[in-house]
Amino acid sequence: MTSTPKLKPGVVFGETYKQLVKACKDGGYALPAVNIVGTNSVNAVLEAAAKNKSDVIIQLSNGGAEFYAGHIGDSFQAKVLGAVAAALHVHLLAEHYGVCVVLHTDHANKKLVPWVEALIEEGRKHKAKYGVPLFTSHMIDLSEEDLDYNISESARILTMLNELDMSIEIELGCTGGEEDGVGSDEIDDARLYTQPSEVLEAYEALTPLGHFSVAASFGNVHGVYKPGNVDLRPDILKNSQLAIQEKHGLAANPIDLVFHGGSGSEEAKIKEAISYGVFKMNIDTDTQFAFAEAIGDYVEASPMAFRYQIDPESGEPYKKLYDPRKWLRAGEINLVKRLDEAFAVLGSTGKSLAIAHKESVAA
Ligand SMILES: [Zn+2]
Repeated sequence: MTSTPKLKPGVVFGETYKQLVKACKDGGYALPAVNIVGTNSVNAVLEAAAKNKSDVIIQLSNGGAEFYAGHIGDSFQAKVLGAVAAALHVHLLAEHYGVCVVLHTDHANKKLVPWVEALIEEGRKHKAKYGVPLFTSHMIDLSEEDLDYNISESARILTMLNELDMSIEIELGCTGGEEDGVGSDEIDDARLYTQPSEVLEAYEALTPLGHFSVAASFGNVHGVYKPGNVDLRPDILKNSQLAIQEKHGLAANPIDLVFHGGSGSEEAKIKEAISYGVFKMNIDTDTQFAFAEAIGDYVEASPMAFRYQIDPESGEPYKKLYDPRKWLRAGEINLVKRLDEAFAVLGSTGKSLAIAHKESVAA
C-alpha cells in the first residue's frame, strides 16, 4: 500500500485528478458531485467541503450553466459562458477553502456534444494562458445511442480531452428519469442495468486514449421517489469490474465508476457501490430541496417581510429580513447541512488530500 499523496488545494487536473480518484478507491470512500446553479450553491459546496475536510466535485448541467450566465438571449452561448464563468469562480476560490476540487460538467447527449466541444475549446485557450484547462473532466452521455457509436464518439472526445490533461465520464446503460432535459422516464427497464460486457468493451477502447470514468447503470434513477420504485443492484458494478479484472489479469476494481441519481438512495446500497469502485456520487435533487426547504421556512417565519417594506401597522422597517443575503444564506446553511450527511455516508469526511498537504507543510 502506497502512502496517501498530498496535493495543493484547488482544482485538480490530469495526474492530480488520477491520484485523487485512486486515493478514494484505495481508501474505500467516494466524493459527492454536487450540481450547482450559481455562486450561492458553489460557495455552499466549498464551505461544506472545508468544514468536513473532504475534497469535493462541483458540476454543472447544461441548464445550470445557462442559468449561471443569466439571460443573455442566446441559449447556446449562455451554456458556454455560464460554464466558463462558474469554472473561473471555482478556480479563484477553491484554494482558499483549502480543499481539492474536481470541476465537472454533467450529462451531454448527442445534441449537447457541440456544447462540450465549445468548452474544450475554452479549456484549450485557458491552458495556453495559465497552464491548466478549465474543467477537470466532461461527461458525454450517449447512452441513448447504440453502443458502437457511444464508444467511438466518446473515444474521439477523450482524445481531445487527453491532450489538455482532462478526463471524460461516459454512460453505459441508462440512468432512469431525467436530468435537465437529458434522459427519459420511459425507458425499458432492462436498459436501466448495464451489461458487464459493455463496460469491458468501453474499457478496452478507451484505456489507451486517456483517463475515463464510467457511469454504469445499476437501476439508479434521477430524482427522489417513494420507496419501492427503485431497485438498485450494485452487483452489476461488481460483475463489470470482475469481467475486466479477469480478462486483463488486473487487481481489484480496475475501472473508475460513477453513481448517478444518488439522492434518496439507501446507505447500504451506497456503501456497497463504493466497495465496487465508485469514487463519485452525483447528488442534485436532495441539495436542491435542502436549499429550498430552508428558504421556505425563512419566509414562513417572517411572511410580512415578503409583502411589505414597512409593517403597515407598527411602521417597523423590514429591510433586515428581506435582504437577500439573509434568506439566501439560510439556503446555503441547509445545503451545507445536507452535505455534512453526504460526506459522512460516502466516507470522505476528514480525508481531504489537500488538508494532508497543509498539515505536512506545517509539520
Ligand atoms: Zn446523472
